[in-house]
Amino acid sequence: MPAADRQRPRSDFTDGQPTIRCDECRSALRSDRQQAVSFLLLDNLTIPVLSCDDHLERFTSICGLTTEASADLLDHRPAGGIICPSCRLAPYSSTRPAIPIQDGVIVPIACPEHHSEIVQRFQTGLQTHRQLSASLSTTANGSL
Ligand SMILES: [Zn+2]
Ligand SMILES: [Zn+2]
Repeated sequence: MPAADRQRPRSDFTDGQPTIRCDECRSALRSDRQQAVSFLLLDNLTIPVLSCDDHLERFTSICGLTTEASADLLDHRPAGGIICPSCRLAPYSSTRPAIPIQDGVIVPIACPEHHSEIVQRFQTGLQTHRQLSASLSTTANGSL
C-alpha cells in the first residue's frame, strides 16, 4: 500500500537492511536463540521482536503513542501465546525488512500482514513523537 509512503525517509531502506551501529542490536540479531526474542503487546497484537533492550524500550514507547492503552514488552512468551497462527510460524529471517530506530534496528518476527502493521504503527508513533517534542522544545525556547 503506497499510501503510507508520503514522507517516509527511504534512505535507510534502500538495501533492505539499514546500517546497524548498535553493537547490542547486532549481537541480538546474530543470536538465533529463542531467549533473544521479546514480545511486544500492542492492543490486540502480539508481535515477537528482536533487538537490544534499549532499542526495544524505545520502540515500545513510540508504538505506545499510537494506542489509548499502553504498549507492553515481555521477555518471555505471553500466557495466551501468539494469537496469530501465521506469526507463530513466521521464521526468523535476516532478509525480513528491519525497522531502523536511532542507531539500532528492530526486527519483527511476524507474518507479512502483522509485520507491515507494526511498521505502520511505528511510523505513526514517530510522527506523533516528533510533534510532541517539537511543541515541547517550542515551549522551552519560549520560556527562556
Ligand atoms: Zn540496540
Ligand atoms: Zn500475524
